[in-house]
Parts: sequence; structure tokens; C-alpha cells
Amino acid sequence: MESREIRDIGEAGSLNFMKGKGRSTTAVSAVVEFGLVRRSLLASLASGQIQKDDICDAHPELLRAAKNVGRSTKENCPVCDENELVEVTYVFGARLPAGGTCPHTRAELLALERRADPVLCYAVEVCTQCHFHHLARKWQAGGMKSAKPVAKKANQ
Ligand SMILES: [Zn+2]
Repeated sequence: MESREIRDIGEAGSLNFMKGKGRSTTAVSAVVEFGLVRRSLLASLASGQIQKDDICDAHPELLRAAKNVGRSTKENCPVCDENELVEVTYVFGARLPAGGTCPHTRAELLALERRADPVLCYAVEVCTQCHFHHLARKWQAGGMKSAKPVAKKANQ
């Protein structure tokens, strides 16, 4: 689990998820958390290895989604500490938009997770104030299995 997480950092840590590139080679059935990545990002920022602009560059589409369908995380932005982080979920799969779809409600997300076709879900934390964004976790759902892993709240 630890090594898989680290192997995923390079690819998923960038904005590849925005392109809807489903990587079927990594058959992840459980939720993969990226809290480690976030901690290392923030540590790099604190030590001056990276600049605020490097991690506060959320795509306009992502910011729009955050404002429209972002869900409260009850957590302040770790970068600016001025705004609450919101979470946006992108779901990719067959017969879904190439750029993924953003469920507006928990019920919509559950419906997507129960599709007959497998789906890949990405939860992104966004600050609409300073534009910090971070891939919080990803998971697979849908498909043939009736008993599927359910996304749990991360970083609680
Ligand atoms: Zn912020």
C-alpha cells in the first residue's frame, strides 16, 4: 500500500486526472489516499523548495466546479488559512464525458458509483481563495461487484 501510494504520486500528483486518463493497469479496488503527498507539498512550501504559485494554480474549470458543486470539508485551507477547503469529485467512465463528470450531490455520486460500468473517482480539495488544489484520494466503483468499497472521509 505504501509503495503503491508513492508510485502514484508522480502521475496522479499532476493534473493528469483532469484529462480523464483512466489507468487500467493499476487495479486499485480500495480508496487510495494522498494525504502523504499533501504533507510533503506543504513541507516543501514551508522550506522554500517550491513557491505558492506552484501549488496554488487550480484550473479555472476546477475553480468553477469548486464554487458550484464543492462540498464542505470543515477544514481551512492549509496554505492561506483564509478559506474553507471544498472537495470536488470527478467521475470517469464509459458513457461519461471525456473530462469526467462532477456529481452535485452525495446522491448523484452514489448513483454513479452504482453504475453497471466501472467508474474511476477522484476527489480533489480546492481553495477558491488562493487556488490551492490537491488530489485527496481516488477510488474505483461501479462494475460487476455488488459489494464495492465505499469512499470514506479522508483526513479526519
Ligand atoms: Zn487557500
